[in-house]
Amino acid sequence: MKLSNRLGKLSPYPFVEISRIIAAKRAAGVDVVTFGIGDPDIPTPQPFIDRLLTASQSPPNHRYPETDGLPELRRAIAYWYDQRFGVKLDPDKEVLPLIGAKEGIGHAAFCFLDPGDLALIPDPAYPVYGVGTMFAGAESYTMPLHEENGWLPELDAIPDEVARAAKVMWLNYPNNPTSAVASAEDLESALAFCRQNDIALLHDAAYSEVGYDGYRPSSFMQLDGAKEMGLEFHSLSKTYNMTGWRIGMAVGNATMIKALFQIKANLDSGIPQSIQEMAIEALTGSQECIEENRVVYQRRRDLVVQALRRLGLKTAVPQASLYIWSHVPEGFTSAQFAARLLDEINIVVTPGSSYGKCGEGYIRLSLTTPDERIEEGCRRLEGWRIPAPVRS
Ligand SMILES: *Cc1c(COP(=O)(O)O)cnc(C)c1O
Repeated sequence: MKLSNRLGKLSPYPFVEISRIIAAKRAAGVDVVTFGIGDPDIPTPQPFIDRLLTASQSPPNHRYPETDGLPELRRAIAYWYDQRFGVKLDPDKEVLPLIGAKEGIGHAAFCFLDPGDLALIPDPAYPVYGVGTMFAGAESYTMPLHEENGWLPELDAIPDEVARAAKVMWLNYPNNPTSAVASAEDLESALAFCRQNDIALLHDAAYSEVGYDGYRPSSFMQLDGAKEMGLEFHSLSKTYNMTGWRIGMAVGNATMIKALFQIKANLDSGIPQSIQEMAIEALTGSQECIEENRVVYQRRRDLVVQALRRLGLKTAVPQASLYIWSHVPEGFTSAQFAARLLDEINIVVTPGSSYGKCGEGYIRLSLTTPDERIEEGCRRLEGWRIPAPVRS
């Protein structure tokens, strides 16, 4: 049979390969500590599960859901945005539930991009922005992110003809993988650039609820004019420990929301309604679990940063997100250093280079591993001596 060219353009999704290596090591009896994928180990709060169990008994919830979800869920999303950010949204026009943010992000490309079109994509980045662009037959123009600029795009460096041609810009703050944060002014500059050049600004805010030391990320939707050009993607995955349930949302410009609805209506049949009810519970009930999570992650953050620094790695203390983004030692590439950690002390980290060229020289450690495993991993790091790099 003949497969599509687009499949050939995919690089392996980073975690598929890592999962394979971990499985092989574990099958051989090796005790592996994983700081790999960002997937909360803390269980989904019990009240959400209780709501799911009740909802699952109700026959209307056994039937096809609507693509745009239950009206109560759209209202719950609008309520949450108002409570959390003071942003007012029309639940019927400016809100769209998603089967996880990843689904919406991937499909959003089809709303804006035709073959040959141009998208502005940060590097390093969550891979789905670029992959969605490629699936739509469009081209990515890379916005390099560098530590010196706080991992923010240099808008002035984008050539005029690129700015004129581009149809979308993807941004993600707090950022995965760098854990960088953007101030309201940073987001404002990006919005001004996009308005000037008629570019749709798509902001991925998956980590807006994971801020440390009192830092609370803002929403792009709080900016004046955000609704003219923009969508924000959010997810219940990291916020409420719900990665396995697959639910998130897009909010913002009504025309853009309608476009995403049209694409989705032709591809999926919505989110299981019992899971939508869980989300209603999460968004409108007590928000205590967010604070509880933050306390857990902040303690882990401090342990991991300390261990990496004792090992001799240059490591910043993140203000937000679930990740530690650390330099690798002189003489190693990201992949070489990650391979050494795995070979010598059975620790899994993600090479920064799997998020793009500008991630080279860094590794990412996720804090979504149980406390005792984090502690074990830190002991191994602190007791290790960095080997001499192999010259190739
Ligand atoms: C985890 C993650 C998502 C995906 O969230 P889901 O709702 O689970 O699909 C989206 N964007 C970023 C940057 C993420 O890290």
